[in-house]
Amino acid sequence: METMVYKTDTEPELRQAVKAAGELLREGKLVAIPTETVYGLAANALDPQAVNAIFKAKGRPNDNPLIVHIADLSALPDVVSVVPEKARVLMERFWPGPLTIVLPRNPQIPNETTAGLDTVAVRMPSHPVAQAIIRESGLPIAAPSANLSGSPSPTTAQHCIDDLMGRVDAIVDGGICGVGLESTVISLAGEVPTVLRPGGITVEQLRKVLGDVQVDPAV
Ligand code: AMP
Ligand code: MG
Repeated sequence: METMVYKTDTEPELRQAVKAAGELLREGKLVAIPTETVYGLAANALDPQAVNAIFKAKGRPNDNPLIVHIADLSALPDVVSVVPEKARVLMERFWPGPLTIVLPRNPQIPNETTAGLDTVAVRMPSHPVAQAIIRESGLPIAAPSANLSGSPSPTTAQHCIDDLMGRVDAIVDGGICGVGLESTVISLAGEVPTVLRPGGITVEQLRKVLGDVQVDPAV
């Protein structure tokens, strides 16, 4: 397939990129977008076919669940079924930003997105281009890192081009990603908040606001 590359250096370029990316996402297409952690390979999280296309383009095993990205808290009920008090506290303190929270899923989130789990991982990115594109799409957006499975995570559009040219519908160039680390993943689905993956927010930062936080032995 042909991969469009959109620049965002000037206001008109940015407007065009956001509009095109939003349209492509609504059509079920794949778009690599900048976030503050790493570039994400975005698709409609509600569309099983679009989500399957992410796994195919990356060569990612289907049993590895995706993180769903939102730009506004009003989109949260479309993604999760309950928001416990501890989740509210984390969102208030760390969103938008590099913290992913695992919560019971809204049944409309397909199995393809969550790898069949009853839970879903959700995050609100702080990158203005990511926010603008998610808002423009009007959808919850599934987005793993925009690289081939096994390659290093992409922090520039060139990294995405190297891995995904011809495999995705578009790449939006938003410059270098600031954090360069993946988001921290914390589960609030069990009794005690549990860090499943270290990342941009430290365990100490989480303990400061939640108190008891355990780290999964697999980390
Ligand atoms: P990536 O998209 O490569 O940044 O990885 C997303 C990671 O988030 C997965 O590899 C899991 O470790 C974690 N994750 C996503 N969804 C869930 C979930 N429902 N339950 C637990 N962990 C999840
Ligand atoms: Mg990855």
